[in-house]
This record gives sequence, C-alpha cells and structure tokens, in this order.
Amino acid sequence: MKGLYIHIPFCKSKCYYCDFNSIVNTEYQDEYIEALIREINLLEEKNFDTIFIGGGTPTILSIKNLEKLLRTVKEFTPKEFTIEANPGTLNLEKLNMLKKYGVNRLSIGLQSTDNKVLKKLGRIHTYEQFLINFKDAKSLGFKNINVDLMFNLPDQNVNEFIETLLNVIKLEPQHISCYSLIIEEDTRFYNLYQNDELNLLDEEEERLLYHTMINLLKENGYNQYEISNFAKIGYECRHNIIYWSDDEYIGVGAGAHSYINGIRYSNVKDIKKYIYNIKNYGNAIEEKNILTKEEHMAEFMFLGLRMNCGININKFKSKFNEDVMQVYGNEILDLIDKGLIEKYGENIRLTEKGRDLSNLVFVSFLK
Ligand code: SF4
Repeated sequence: MKGLYIHIPFCKSKCYYCDFNSIVNTEYQDEYIEALIREINLLEEKNFDTIFIGGGTPTILSIKNLEKLLRTVKEFTPKEFTIEANPGTLNLEKLNMLKKYGVNRLSIGLQSTDNKVLKKLGRIHTYEQFLINFKDAKSLGFKNINVDLMFNLPDQNVNEFIETLLNVIKLEPQHISCYSLIIEEDTRFYNLYQNDELNLLDEEEERLLYHTMINLLKENGYNQYEISNFAKIGYECRHNIIYWSDDEYIGVGAGAHSYINGIRYSNVKDIKKYIYNIKNYGNAIEEKNILTKEEHMAEFMFLGLRMNCGININKFKSKFNEDVMQVYGNEILDLIDKGLIEKYGENIRLTEKGRDLSNLVFVSFLK
C-alpha cells in the first residue's frame, strides 16, 4: 500500500490547543497552491492506494484553488480519498466539488457538540454549523464520514462528554476519532496550563472517560481498531493504517513528511520558504533521515502496536529477516508478564491495560 498526503497549512483562526503547521494568514494561498501543484506534478509515483488532504483546514481553500488541486490529482484514482473539513469553511458548493473529483471520505473536525466547550477550545464553529455540513454531505451521497472528537477538555464533565458521543452516534457516521487533549508547547493552552489556569481531568478520571467511550461506541457498532479510532466494519481509515503498518507514503506541502524505502524525509515547514524552494529547485526537502535497522524495528513495533490487531510476527520476520523474539524477547516477555501485551495467534497486541498505559509499552522498544 502507498499513500499520498497533501498538506494545506491555513486556518481561519488558531484553536487554543493546536500546534499543527498552520497559519491564519491566507495571503499566500494562491502561490502556495501553485507550488503544491508543481510538487505533485513532479512526483514520479502516480499510483496511490490512498490520498489524504489534511491541514490546517483544507476546506478553507477558495473554490478555484480547491478545484485546481483536485484536478491535479484526478488521474491518481485512489481507493480511499479523504479530505479534512472544518465547519465554518465548508458549504454545498465545496461539497459538490469534492464529490465531482472523487473524494470519497470526509473527516470533519467537530471536537464537541457543546457550543460552550467549542468556544473554550477556540473553535470557529458551532454544533449547528457542523450539523448542516454533515447532513448536506450525507444527502450528496458521501458514504464514508469521520467525525473528530476530543476528550479531557478543560472543565469537561463526564455527562457533557457522553452527550457529545450520543449526539454523534445518533448521526451514524462510519468512523469516529477521539483523542485525549495533549497540551503542546507554543499554544494558548500551554500558557494557561503553566499558570495553573486549565482545569483538566486527573489520570484516573481521564481513563474512566476513555473506557466509557470505548464501551459506548462498541455498544453502538463502532469497532475500536486503534487507540483513538473507531469504525463500523469495513470503514477503518486505510490511509492512517499505512502510517501504523510501516507502509510507504509521500507527503507534499509545507512540513509534510514522506517515508520511502526506510528513509524519512520532511519538507521545510515555513510556508514562504516552501514556496520559494519549490519554485526555484522543484523540491522543498529539509531533512532526510535514514533509519538504522534498530530504529526501523522499534518503529515497526510501537506504531504497529497502536492498532488493536497489533504487529504480525511473520511480517516482522520477512521485513527484517529476524525473529521478533530474538530481538525483543526480554521486553515482550516482561510486558506479557505485566499484562500489557499478549500473543494472539501470529500477532502481538496490546491488552486493555496496555492501551491505558500504551506509552509505557512503546518506550520499551526504544533501546
Ligand atoms: S482547525 Fe485544526 S489545524 Fe486549524 S488550528 Fe484548529 S486544530 Fe489546528
């Protein structure tokens, strides 16, 4: 499997928790899209199983730029073609355009159905705006929609979170992602957190919410296939599975990462530099990191273990020509002993306890 990631680094305003590579100033939008199209046209590879347009906020693009971009990748005909969309930047005209060019999966950022919570997060939209977009998308025939949610939000209580989940479940999206808030440096929340002005859950409460969510989603037909991702059967996100399965992908756009042949590449993050480099040199790669075999094996383990199916012992063997027990025998036995991972047929996977303490598991493979 191979994926193409396309980065759109613009947002209407910056959410208070966000450290993604995005800026509010859209003054460079036209030039950026031109550079992006040039970078895509220069790719030797044209055959992708998945395309994911992410951001930032891809749906902030003008209809003209959106069409230019979609036309550029029209011939790639991936099986799964996702775009991230944010309420407040999406409308019927854009949805029609996405449909026309073969986008078959929408990932809509909602985070909460409580408008007070949305305001506290610095989101630009209300729940009602999301509902309009969601219903429009459904009526236009989008049959694979993800809704992004968050938990462990400031002042959040269990009831508010359950209400959000129930509201979303009622809409029957095919996929739900739900991440716990992480306080990142250089965000408004980071400063508040440093000043002790952010009221977050303690670890035990957070775990309680996590388990409540897993159970509620399971009861409603959503299969957990990764720590933070849930889908109706057959609607797992193929693109993200590429990242977790050590498969290859190419990233285009400012700050985008690629992973080809055991080498990681990253484009320059700064938007103006990106445009300049693409215009003048035809590429914007800033860093190239050739993974050592040890690094590669460790990544295979901790990325693969994020998925509920875990890592496949035979795949490890055929990739690295080594037996996983020879390489990580001590770590694996120790983690099994602690009840954090288990063998399951030809796979090794996290247990329920392991999913709660996943970071502890992942660091075990970093020698
Ligand atoms: S819309 Fe997404 S990318 Fe943009 S600031 Fe908010 S969280 Fe970050």
